[in-house]
Amino acid sequence: MVTDKLMGFLDEEIAKLKSEGRLARLRVLQGAQEPVSTVDGRRVVNLTSNNYLDLANHPGLKAAAKDAIERFGVGTAAVRPIIGTMELHQELERRLAEFKGCSAALVFQSGFTVNVACCQSLMTDASDLLISDELNHASIIDGARLAKAARQVYPHKDMKALRAILESSAARGARRKMIVTDGVFSMDGDVAPLPEIADLADRYGAFVMVDDAHASGVMGRNGRGTPDHFGLTKRIQIQIGTLSKAVGAVGGYVAGSASLRDYLISTARPFIFSSSHPPSVIATCLAAIDIMLKEPQRIEKLWSNARAFKEGLKKLGFDTGASETPITPVIIGDTAKAQAFSARLFEEGVFALSICYPIVARGKDRLRTIVSSGHTQADLELALEKFRKVGKELGVI
Ligand SMILES: *Cc1c(COP(=O)(O)O)cnc(C)c1O
Repeated sequence: MVTDKLMGFLDEEIAKLKSEGRLARLRVLQGAQEPVSTVDGRRVVNLTSNNYLDLANHPGLKAAAKDAIERFGVGTAAVRPIIGTMELHQELERRLAEFKGCSAALVFQSGFTVNVACCQSLMTDASDLLISDELNHASIIDGARLAKAARQVYPHKDMKALRAILESSAARGARRKMIVTDGVFSMDGDVAPLPEIADLADRYGAFVMVDDAHASGVMGRNGRGTPDHFGLTKRIQIQIGTLSKAVGAVGGYVAGSASLRDYLISTARPFIFSSSHPPSVIATCLAAIDIMLKEPQRIEKLWSNARAFKEGLKKLGFDTGASETPITPVIIGDTAKAQAFSARLFEEGVFALSICYPIVARGKDRLRTIVSSGHTQADLELALEKFRKVGKELGVI
């Protein structure tokens, strides 16, 4: 068939991806997202999800979702600016603004779209300058590509380089300057130097956007995020969060000034042209915020689990990189070995994903582990024992 011939390039591209070890395969979760889950028919200690506070299958959140379906239906059938804004959406935005210590918040379909939208809507002219950490999330990179602004990328957390950019003639002549950073970096689990970034931003007249996808529910009081953790809430103009990780549902939001919200409602393309969340999702998120405020012991447990697991890995002789959070990489170095390590661990009943070049730098191929507040001591001990076994088998330790 003609069509098949025209699409023949797909097979060539797939063969290329395969030869580079980059062809993805979807693993399938049987049942709910749990600290110990069934994946592809095997019970595994789950060290892969972002279910930090073990809320994804929480009875209270499920009850809130069911109740919202009964009262408001299954969908909004509209974009937010037309008739896709229910009172629930407004209530969630009020609660998120309060939670983040800001005047206003706006909910988007995902963390990905809110990052794209903010970069695109705030950086609209070639005389604007978007300044970004080299390890920022893909959605910030794509947002920067869609923005009309000039872009400068600084080496990871390198404050001297950031300062040099801010002092450059390009920055001095810029109409607007925005510094964008992840709060917690998703591959290494390290934390952005926000106090230094805020100081430089003040000094050189830039505003700051922090993507707290991996910090919301994890860092700061009750999981308010990295600006709260550093006591910088009033000095960070734009706080991005996700509802898809610790909160356990799906979605993203931006918190900041009322003007920021007003402006984005009229200009943010994903907000204007893509439909809004079903009421069940919004009700789930509201219930999650209640739990984060009422049950700080979940965050304490998350951190004690993270500390115990990290220390266990270090004691075994693994290289856990620069991690300071519940995201702990186990650096293996070589792509084939990292993939083999992950496959062997899976056979042994532990699921830790391998993350390889080009997602991480060459020679930094790794397994990425993320613990949850729901893991028991026995789960983590089992995982450590299997890391020891496979680590010895493959000559990593
Ligand atoms: C996961 C992630 C996102 C995207 O969030 P979603 O809600 O899953 O779209 C954005 N930024 C960072 C740093 C992330 O880790």
